[in-house]
Amino acid sequence: MVDPRVVLVTGGAGFIGCNFVRHLLDKYPDVQVVNYDLLTYAGRLENLREVANNPRHKFVRGDIRDRESVELVVKRYGIDTIINFAAETHVDRSIVEAGCFVLTDVYGTYVLLDVARKLDVERVVHISTDEVYGSIERGSFTEEDPLRPSSPYSASKAGADMMVMAFYRTYGLNVVVTRSTNNFGPYQHPEKFIPKLIIRALHDKHLPLYGDGRQVRDWLYVLDNCEATDLVMRKGKPGEIYNVASGQEKQNVEVARAVLRILNKPEPLIEFVEDRPGHDRRYSLSMGKIKQLGWSPKHRFEDALRLTVEWYVKNRWWWEPLLSDRYVISDTPWRCS
Ligand code: NAD
Repeated sequence: MVDPRVVLVTGGAGFIGCNFVRHLLDKYPDVQVVNYDLLTYAGRLENLREVANNPRHKFVRGDIRDRESVELVVKRYGIDTIINFAAETHVDRSIVEAGCFVLTDVYGTYVLLDVARKLDVERVVHISTDEVYGSIERGSFTEEDPLRPSSPYSASKAGADMMVMAFYRTYGLNVVVTRSTNNFGPYQHPEKFIPKLIIRALHDKHLPLYGDGRQVRDWLYVLDNCEATDLVMRKGKPGEIYNVASGQEKQNVEVARAVLRILNKPEPLIEFVEDRPGHDRRYSLSMGKIKQLGWSPKHRFEDALRLTVEWYVKNRWWWEPLLSDRYVISDTPWRCS
């Protein structure tokens, strides 16, 4: 059992990170959070409005690839636990420009591990993804299965996982890894599948689905993932990997239909477009290990989807400034931060 006091959350201005920061501050009155984020296009201070004045939350703008800066922050704040959410995360962008995925997701993770080792950080929790296993037609991947990533994004995440495990085996660094399925919920960037469906439907624009739209994903509500991450941070066994899944698998086309139903929009808005190269057909994870640790998801997909749609409907101020992004609605080129 680990009892964190001063937690460095990297990528805490992004989607899952900002939900996790709020979770920590709400649940643990004694925990201090240092939120370290580069504020790329995906990280926004708007995500942290509710915690901006919380004296136990300190935001530091910084890059996980910058060793000097990471060392300074770990020393200055007396960090005992690092949770690494920071990453480049969008598969489509990784297909256009893979280099910054390698630099942030692999090299940045290495920097955090090496600083943690040098400065005797008690625990590092690394956030990985189901995508490292690749696609599976039937059954579900366990934590023991080999990694077969398909995209530059998932290959970079797999590289980071390997480095994390190497630091455990070589140096005995106290690491744990979570690999979760597709998250959804408030504050997810509109370039991602569910927010994009919601926002495009609100504008009566076509909902583009890759290929035949029958790719299967397991959908995990972000607050359930925050609880799982918290549990693994405290009770996960050093050197272990924990899959985090909801067990609620849906085809992409089913998700699109569900969004249209909630918003009372017509089904012909769905449009099938040319498939993404290397597109994985199905992701599925076994949940036995994390369940044994004491976690199971609390949210049903349909209820959580409704909550998510309602959040986007009520919080236009949050996503409207992002509409010019070519991955949401229009056509401007993308560059690495
Ligand atoms: P996100 O893209 O919303 O946020 C990433 C955050 O990292 C942003 O705030 C960004 O500014 C920050 N960042 C990027 N490069 C950085 C750098 N060099 N230094 C410091 N900060 C940097 O991502 P997310 O969806 O919240 O995902 C968080 C983590 O969870 C990622 O590691 C991702 O691989 C993993 N994950 C996500 C999902 C999902 O469905 N969203 C599923 C499984 C795993």
